[in-house]
Amino acid sequence: QTLLESKSKDPYPDWKPGEPVPYAALCTTFALIESTTKRLIILSHCSLFLRQVLRLTPEDLLPTVLLMINKLAADYAGVELGIGESLIMKAIGESTGRSLAVIKADQNEIGDLGLVAAKSRSNQPTMFKPKALTVRGVRDGLMAIATTQGNGAQTRKIAGIKKLLSAADAHSAGKGKGVDITKDKGGASESKFIVRTLEGKMRLGLADRTVLVALAQAMVVHEISKEGKVPTTEQLERGETILKTVYSELPSYEVIVPAMLEHGIFNLEEHCKLQPGVPLKPMLAKPTKAITEVLDRFENKNFTCEYKYDGERSQIHFVSPDSQHQYLSSVPSVKSEKGISAIFSRNSEDLSKKYPDILAKLDHWVKDGTKSFVLDCETVGWDLVEKKVLPFQQLMTRKRKDVKVEDVKVKVCVFAFDLLFLNGEPTVKKSLRERREMMKQTFEEVEGEFGFAKCMNTSDLDEIQTFLDESVKASCEGLMVKMLDGEESGYEPSKRSRNWLKVKKDYLSGLGDSLDLVVLGAYYGKGKRTSLYGAFLLSAYNPTTETYETICNLGTGFTDPVLQHLHALLSPSAIPSPPSYYSHSPVPAHQPDVWFPPKHVWEVKAADLTLSPRYRAAEGYLDGVEGKGVSLRFPRFLREREDKKPEDATRVRDVAEMYRRQEGVSKGKDGGGGGG
Ligand code: ATP
Repeated sequence: QTLLESKSKDPYPDWKPGEPVPYAALCTTFALIESTTKRLIILSHCSLFLRQVLRLTPEDLLPTVLLMINKLAADYAGVELGIGESLIMKAIGESTGRSLAVIKADQNEIGDLGLVAAKSRSNQPTMFKPKALTVRGVRDGLMAIATTQGNGAQTRKIAGIKKLLSAADAHSAGKGKGVDITKDKGGASESKFIVRTLEGKMRLGLADRTVLVALAQAMVVHEISKEGKVPTTEQLERGETILKTVYSELPSYEVIVPAMLEHGIFNLEEHCKLQPGVPLKPMLAKPTKAITEVLDRFENKNFTCEYKYDGERSQIHFVSPDSQHQYLSSVPSVKSEKGISAIFSRNSEDLSKKYPDILAKLDHWVKDGTKSFVLDCETVGWDLVEKKVLPFQQLMTRKRKDVKVEDVKVKVCVFAFDLLFLNGEPTVKKSLRERREMMKQTFEEVEGEFGFAKCMNTSDLDEIQTFLDESVKASCEGLMVKMLDGEESGYEPSKRSRNWLKVKKDYLSGLGDSLDLVVLGAYYGKGKRTSLYGAFLLSAYNPTTETYETICNLGTGFTDPVLQHLHALLSPSAIPSPPSYYSHSPVPAHQPDVWFPPKHVWEVKAADLTLSPRYRAAEGYLDGVEGKGVSLRFPRFLREREDKKPEDATRVRDVAEMYRRQEGVSKGKDGGGGGG
């Protein structure tokens, strides 16, 4: 039973039908969520609140959902919060009349800027009561802060934050007396949640996926109860499946929520389909340790091997001028004779300004008469003289923004391996064989500009081995092995699927896969490296607790120029103490000389995994192990992963699975869920 279900007392007397959703009401739900770790309870708090929004103020459903997932817009819109700590501290100080030194001292002691804000707020007497915050007002305020640019942007951002903080908590139960931060983690304090939202870290344990499921449930209950009925389990499950499918193909609540309100959840699939202009999260592959594992997985199935090109994932979207398009013109795109086009990264970020040379040549390889498409590709550096793929490191030397076609030094070639949408229709449900065929009919290979990923359909072990060797000679990373026919060969957006397996050249010994880890801190070097960092503390990500759990120290694999580059890159953002959401050894001797906010992701290879009392990774995911985390043995730096955000780093659950697999293999049995 939660607050919202209690009939005896209206928990939000100020919230009348048709009136904006009070932000305080959302914060009460956040506090309920924060007070538990049980996923089903979190889900029910979330869906009950959304039901209330649907019942009273459906027009606020979109801003409510966005604040729940801590986003202001879909990823591809590029609107990000993540406001720096110093700016927020300044705003807290100025809006509450406390000095910056006191705020900093509080932050050192409490380690959660949200609580510092809540505490600061409570000390302040309120003479004039500002109007209560509303969900839509907070969303608009945050949007204004996030999108402020140009001259005096810092000052205007601080002013925006102050405005929100001044109105926060003015109507709370204590009426200005305040928030006791020693109780209930600060309870439902609006200041706390505003600050955490600004930081880009809610730390509620509320996963995006839970919000999606809660929204589906709320919608089904709302619709069925309008007919005076109670929804069946089958209806609830159907609603959930529909929303999950639609969101995976069209990951934009700005498009989905209004359509769902207008047409109902059960008709959503007809109205919300994959569209050029809305990038989808790509399908990902499972790692393997040996070619024989591939054969075991795909036994008696038709499968195909492709070169695994080593570059940057690129999703190319295109529409011709005469076709209907709603969204492509609202993202940064390039116009050509044949139509308009845009490129997105693995994370749905806009790459059009990084690779204008690709879009400039698009008319060469798109056949006449093509109306629209979404193409999944890998962009690699291209050696014009040798006419072959360049190593990944060369591609990385390209400028990242505002590239001018005439200045490009490292030429690129696009290798297409999948087609997700063609001429007005999604193709994701077709078999890979059919999608490949459609690709061949729609595009033309142009050497050094555009090609199809080299492929071979075979199930012969020797042939696959030879193909793997050839791929490595051609500067590729190895092979991708994919299901070719039938339902299982459909494109599964945003899924790491066992219908795609990766066989990397250096799998055949060692761990199976490299890890993408977040840099938390650094140690000063020794000898001639005393002015640089000589080693780093790395971590894996825990999405449930939104914490970074330490996994190893890394001091191998760096050349001197790389260390210089990393020092220049990291040192400006060094912070003296670790944020509260770092899970690390409490022993001071094991702590780095400087800490960093979570930002940089590095790819690291290791000999194997081991248990260690010094590191914390996957601590809660190992049965029968206490006081120890998983650590890497002989870790080696491979490269920076600029295309990954810290939240995309290797997750602690995967670390635990890798450890279990390794243990299973070393004991001569199947590693439990291997390949799956
Ligand atoms: P993750 O580690 O999360 O799986 P990643 O970006 O590190 O992702 P890998 O796992 O190494 O990538 O392999 C998958 C990536 O390989 C794809 O995201 C894509 O960028 C690249 N790739 C290259 N060639 C192909 C291909 N033929 N088919 C699919 N992906 C390919």
